[in-house]
Amino acid sequence: MKIDLHSHSTASDGTDSPAALVLAAAHVGLDVLAITDHDTTAGWAEAQEAVRLLDRSLIVVPGMEMSCTGRGEGGRLVSVHLLAYLFEPHSPVFAEETVRLQSERIARMQKMTIMMAADGIPINPEEVMNSAQGVIGRPHLAAALVNAGVVDSVDEAFRGLLSADSRYVLPKRDTPLTVAVEMVRAAGGVPVLAHPKARSRGGVLDTEHIEEAVEAGLAGIEVDHMDHNADDRKALLDLAKGLNLIVTGSSDYHGSHKRVELGQYRTHPSQWEKIQEMATGVSVLESGYST
Ligand code: AMP
Ligand code: FE
Ligand code: FE
Ligand code: ZN
Repeated sequence: MKIDLHSHSTASDGTDSPAALVLAAAHVGLDVLAITDHDTTAGWAEAQEAVRLLDRSLIVVPGMEMSCTGRGEGGRLVSVHLLAYLFEPHSPVFAEETVRLQSERIARMQKMTIMMAADGIPINPEEVMNSAQGVIGRPHLAAALVNAGVVDSVDEAFRGLLSADSRYVLPKRDTPLTVAVEMVRAAGGVPVLAHPKARSRGGVLDTEHIEEAVEAGLAGIEVDHMDHNADDRKALLDLAKGLNLIVTGSSDYHGSHKRVELGQYRTHPSQWEKIQEMATGVSVLESGYST
């Protein structure tokens, strides 16, 4: 079984439509794909329709990647991503918080693009805002910087103008990690900490804070991810063992906004099994095809 539990579509900062994402998953031979756009479930419906029409078996896991803040090493606030699987998206608290996160993103990106344009960087704030079909994020701005010839690649943009310590990258008021974990659990979902050791986001979480998140109901951590080196993976596996957490591995595919292939990192079937056992929110989306 080939299982990839983290991917993005045009509902947020990926470049494949939800339907194209489903087709790509079938094409690379995945058995299970989670669609986890940033702060939105808007891609679920199209993914469901696409999977229904497939001529092979595929399970699509409705999910989301929530923008959170957590306590980092040394006590400072760090940006953290929380993957949520199989939760009921219509619970009022949840729906309200995702709308709030989306407006934070819009307000922040408007300010960031206006600051850049005012400094003579040749991007058009309105065009950047309109380039997002769904929830906007820095990759949309990175693509505009590439198109304008300011940088040669999305990577170069993230190393410079769009890095965590750039003066153009403004903070947004994200959900406190433990609050988000509780919300996901209350909606019957399974919360998994995304790429906990990714360093490009201004610091990593304090281990004690991860333990607090576990007390709040955190179910798992993403271990195999392109932003983790061998030492990170080893440390995270040990942590997961100690805290009895589910361990996942995923591509975090963003289409042409990132250089990773769908299914490049994967989750063991036994761990996917545990996620399914814990979930009480919505069901997986399955193709009508059976062998
Ligand atoms: P934002 O959500 O606006 O804070 O932007 C963060 C997003 O940028 C995350 O979803 C990452 O996937 C993406 N990102 C971070 N670093 C890179 C990179 N080097 N190349 C492409 N995308 C990146
Ligand atoms: Fe992203
Ligand atoms: Fe992420
Ligand atoms: Zn992601």
